[in-house]
Amino acid sequence: MRLKKIHIVNPEKVKEQFYGKTFINSDGCWIWKGLLDRIGYGWFTLGKEDFKAHRVSYTVFKGEIPDGMLVLHTCDNPSCCNPEHLWLGTQKDNMKDCAKKERLRGMNRNSCKEKR
Ligand SMILES: [Zn+2]
Repeated sequence: MRLKKIHIVNPEKVKEQFYGKTFINSDGCWIWKGLLDRIGYGWFTLGKEDFKAHRVSYTVFKGEIPDGMLVLHTCDNPSCCNPEHLWLGTQKDNMKDCAKKERLRGMNRNSCKEKR
C-alpha cells in the first residue's frame, strides 16, 4: 500500500500543534489527545487531509519519510508521537519487531497483522 506523502508548509506551526495536542506520560511518550482510530493511532489534520499523527511527527521533527517506509514505535504505543520513540522500518521490520514483542508477552503473533 502506498501512503500519502506529507507536505508540511509551516513546520513551526505544526510543532506547536504537537505540543498542544499531546501530553507526556511516565514513559516519556507524547500521547495524542486528538482523534484516535480503532487501532489507537492519532490522526492529524494538515490542510484538508488527515494523516497519522506519528507520521506527521516524524516528518516535522526528523525529516521526510522515504517512499515505502513505515514509521514504527520503539515504545509500542500507537498513540505516541514522541519523535525520539519513532524509527523508520519496512513492513517486514514491523512484523519482526511486533512478533518479537508479542512473543515476549506470550501473545498470538496474528495480532501483528493489523499494525502499521
Ligand atoms: Zn512513546
